[in-house]
Amino acid sequence: MPAPRTRQQNVTAAQWAANGGLGATDLTESIDYYGENVFSPAVQKERLSKDTFKRLTQAVANGEGLDVDLANEVANAMLEWALEKGATHYTHWFQPLTGATAEKHDAFFDPQPDGTAITEFKGKDLIQAEPDASSFPSGGLRATFEARGYTAWDPTSPAFILENPNGALLCIPTAFVSWTGEALDQKIPLLRSMDALSKAAVKAVGLLGIEAEHVYASVGPEQEYFLIDEQYFYERADLVNTGRTLFGAKPPKGQQLDDHYFGSIPERILAFMMHSERELQRLGIPIKTRHNEVAPNQFELAPIYEGSNVGADHQQLTMQILQNTARDYGLVCLLHEKPFAGVNGSGKHNNWSISTSKANLLDPGETPHENLTFLFFCAATLKAVDRHAALLRATVANAGQDHRLGANEAPPAIISVFLGSELTKAFEFIASGIGEGKTPKETLDLGTALLPVLPKHGGDRNRTSPFAFTGNKFEFRALGSSQSISLTNTVLNTIVAQAIDEMSAKLEPMLEAGTSLNEAVLTVVKDAYVEHRRIVFDGDGYSDEWSAEAEKRGLLNLRTTPEALPWLTNPQTVELFEAYNVLSERELEAREEILFEQYVIKLNIEGETTAQIARTQILPAAVRHLAELKAAGHEALISETTELLQELFFAIEKLESANEIHEDDTIVREADYMRDVVVPAMAAVREVGDRLEKIVADDLWPLPKYWEMLFIK
Ligand code: ADP
Ligand code: MG
Repeated sequence: MPAPRTRQQNVTAAQWAANGGLGATDLTESIDYYGENVFSPAVQKERLSKDTFKRLTQAVANGEGLDVDLANEVANAMLEWALEKGATHYTHWFQPLTGATAEKHDAFFDPQPDGTAITEFKGKDLIQAEPDASSFPSGGLRATFEARGYTAWDPTSPAFILENPNGALLCIPTAFVSWTGEALDQKIPLLRSMDALSKAAVKAVGLLGIEAEHVYASVGPEQEYFLIDEQYFYERADLVNTGRTLFGAKPPKGQQLDDHYFGSIPERILAFMMHSERELQRLGIPIKTRHNEVAPNQFELAPIYEGSNVGADHQQLTMQILQNTARDYGLVCLLHEKPFAGVNGSGKHNNWSISTSKANLLDPGETPHENLTFLFFCAATLKAVDRHAALLRATVANAGQDHRLGANEAPPAIISVFLGSELTKAFEFIASGIGEGKTPKETLDLGTALLPVLPKHGGDRNRTSPFAFTGNKFEFRALGSSQSISLTNTVLNTIVAQAIDEMSAKLEPMLEAGTSLNEAVLTVVKDAYVEHRRIVFDGDGYSDEWSAEAEKRGLLNLRTTPEALPWLTNPQTVELFEAYNVLSERELEAREEILFEQYVIKLNIEGETTAQIARTQILPAAVRHLAELKAAGHEALISETTELLQELFFAIEKLESANEIHEDDTIVREADYMRDVVVPAMAAVREVGDRLEKIVADDLWPLPKYWEMLFIK
């Protein structure tokens, strides 16, 4: 008999200072640390010659490549700076199609014939590298015989230093591309989409009488996460292998009390937050807010918004730093979309807007003219989301998300847009008003009268809407907590670019024909709104009435990942993405295939882990429990346990055989098989396992329980 599981661990976990790292870094020391680990424009200015700095800034602004001389000078300055920061290695840091980040480290030294070594980092090392990247998934973009892929420096996202207790690493954000020029990463399409959006929007604002050289897409992602004591994490094969609990009976106390949301933050957690925020800020990541979330032990942080590309890089780093720092406090940060059944899962809100260097184009503003601009871009966003709702849904699909979307805790799987009553009224007026032959003057007056009363900041607390207008930005709330935000923003930028172009194409001839700007814009806005108003919904997205109503409106309800993913290669997607040079058909196919693959692999790991825990941990615990009951001779309890044991055994066998068979002729069929056969078989095993948890002697139960993981901090 193994030693019985005692609750001693809980006491250790609760005394967190013992295993936490508080005191390792004195955070109370007030120093100017923001951005200290970033090779920022300020550092560049300080360390490069005036001329070099100017040439670099220009090249970056114009999206041009760097010549060898310039690259050498920048590399030199970067090397010097990195060495001072204690770096010994550099890496081309990139985002392969797995959605994670990848690094391959190279030392700065170069051995010499005399047996010594010199420190070196050349311009060519900065600009390009050829990692042996044959093992990254390419979704068929790259056969093994042509496995070469290049990483290429993205100077628009600044280099930074990642620290480790034993040294430091210079990280150079890069794009990852096959030798045939196809994007093997998340960054390239994102950059292309930013260009597409800028081009379309610059033209549109020009028609609206605003001068701008560039239009930028901005993103402010709010990240939700759980923290649990690392003790429990490492005691559970399911958390270690899959990131979520595959077993666990409902605890007596869950989130019913609603006492966690915005509650005061426990000391240990706050210490962790302060430390991780400090690390993020040292990397120039503008983390601004933190709070408790709805579920016990669930938290959220959010940065000040940045451009799509830098924002996406910073989001990846945020996830990494949260996970690393947690360990210093004896905690593990769970980024899975659904770590605990019956408890809210974690998402990521993608706040998105577009602006010129002077103004946010989605800000309703104070004057009629600003209103016109706002109405134009707001209507373009509605048009884009309505037409490509299924594609947006596809960008947030993964195995973890299948537990959340539509489960009355996250937005429904049906994509709709929340405008709020004031704004909806304004659009409805424009839709009907003009049709009734109002003069442009009157319309303008009403447009002015209606819009300034818009609640500027987040009057909206309709948490059930997946895509909500929140004052001066749209908030796409359906992303999963573990996901990269790159693909979603790539899609958003591209679909809105298309909508803007279509509206400009109607606006331009009207203006040329002498129609007033007011009348022309309101006509174009009206047409877009009338055509796409079915996407607008301000009510309760969790209600059954909405599902029925949405179906009537022809809005899709793509409940699971295998239903959503094919929209990545739907003909209308391919046509759009090829037209805007954001992703070719092959590049889209590759992404779809990899996402399908990941879905299947993840569920397969979950299926096997469930079977293993059930057979090697839960079944033996139940058998021991039964033996004790038999020794005690209590017939009623013996028969209760015997029955459950039999049920468990039966369910395990069913799952084991489901795990063995694979409908693997195509990845799509395999995904359906996982969803329709393996997932229900796992659920059946869990269901019996959770019932056993409630009757088996506590000291025999092999897994930390929900109440321990969720309430001990
Ligand atoms: P809420 O709880 O209302 O969603 P938060 O303060 O948690 O508000 O998050 C708001 C997020 O929206 C922040 O990350 C913020 O930077 C971001 N945001 C604000 N303005 C913009 C904008 N113009 N473009 C993109 N994101 C924005
Ligand atoms: Mg939000």
